[in-house]
Amino acid sequence: MKGVVFRGDRVAEVRDFPDEEPGPDHVLLRMRASGICGSDLHNYRAPASEIRFPDNRVGHEPCGEVVAVGPGVTRVRVGDRVMNHHYLGCGRCKYCRMGYQQLCSDPAFKRGYYGGSLHGGHGDYMVCHERTCVPLPDELTYEVGAMLACGSSTAYLALLKLAVSGRDVLAIFGQGPVGVAATMLGAAMGARVIAVDLSEARLKLARQAGAWKTVNPNDGDSVEQIRELTGGEGADATIEAVGLPITRKQSATAAKVFGRSALVGERGQAVYDATPDIIHRHLTIYGSWTVSMLGMEEAAQFVVDRHVPLHELISDRIAIGHAVDAYRRFDRQDTGKMVIVWQ
Ligand SMILES: [Zn+2]
Ligand SMILES: [Zn+2]
Repeated sequence: MKGVVFRGDRVAEVRDFPDEEPGPDHVLLRMRASGICGSDLHNYRAPASEIRFPDNRVGHEPCGEVVAVGPGVTRVRVGDRVMNHHYLGCGRCKYCRMGYQQLCSDPAFKRGYYGGSLHGGHGDYMVCHERTCVPLPDELTYEVGAMLACGSSTAYLALLKLAVSGRDVLAIFGQGPVGVAATMLGAAMGARVIAVDLSEARLKLARQAGAWKTVNPNDGDSVEQIRELTGGEGADATIEAVGLPITRKQSATAAKVFGRSALVGERGQAVYDATPDIIHRHLTIYGSWTVSMLGMEEAAQFVVDRHVPLHELISDRIAIGHAVDAYRRFDRQDTGKMVIVWQ
């Protein structure tokens, strides 16, 4: 079977791998869609010396069909359509029982994740533990399932933490795959969304996704632009989906007094002037890291019930043989969602 690995320094490679069979409690998925997530860029761009699992297939937004089950599997059957929650977890600790395997407290399992220390979704097949399978509703395509396997559900959880409603103006910094999904889902929850990005192509996609207004920092300070759009007050809620110190600071200061803000973009530092930026403005700041098993299921059901057209955010459907070029284009950070698909 074919699979994709990262060699470091912005080089992806398509390799041949031997076929695999599911062991006890594991299932074999025939991959049908595997999303390319913004967080993949951290590993893609890393120097070769920092690639920790150079022989493992990447891809942590897997969605496919169960084609074989190993001994002892009880929750999943052959023929099931599933999304993969890409953290293995021990299955026993408090956080695993909550469905947050990414928080697993057992060190033996903590670093087990598909697309990193374990083979991920960028391959024709994938073996995963049955407890990491989340049912994909019949109404949703595998492509949308791949989006919900990480990025779009991450957006959904941040919106839930912010308790976004039709009373809110919601400013979202960064319109990459997570940010633009937050735009679409936030609009579906009733919010008036201000989408912020440097890329005009991404702002255009954000408008199609339902953004009320768009802000390009090239046109002037984005916080000032957001204040102008909100009668000088700032946004009721903000989301930072970039992961840079400057946008983290802007995401805080663009929120109004008593506002709420969620941090989703990963890595690096944040520098605030605590008193004027946060304390004297009674700001509430949330951290939000991916989603739980049940949260993914709920996000998928929300998309079904509200007919949220997440598929419209997909700009590229790629055959696995073209993954190398796909990553090169995704690295430019001006595409919509890119998904590897199998017919
Ligand atoms: Zn991700
Ligand atoms: Zn655990």
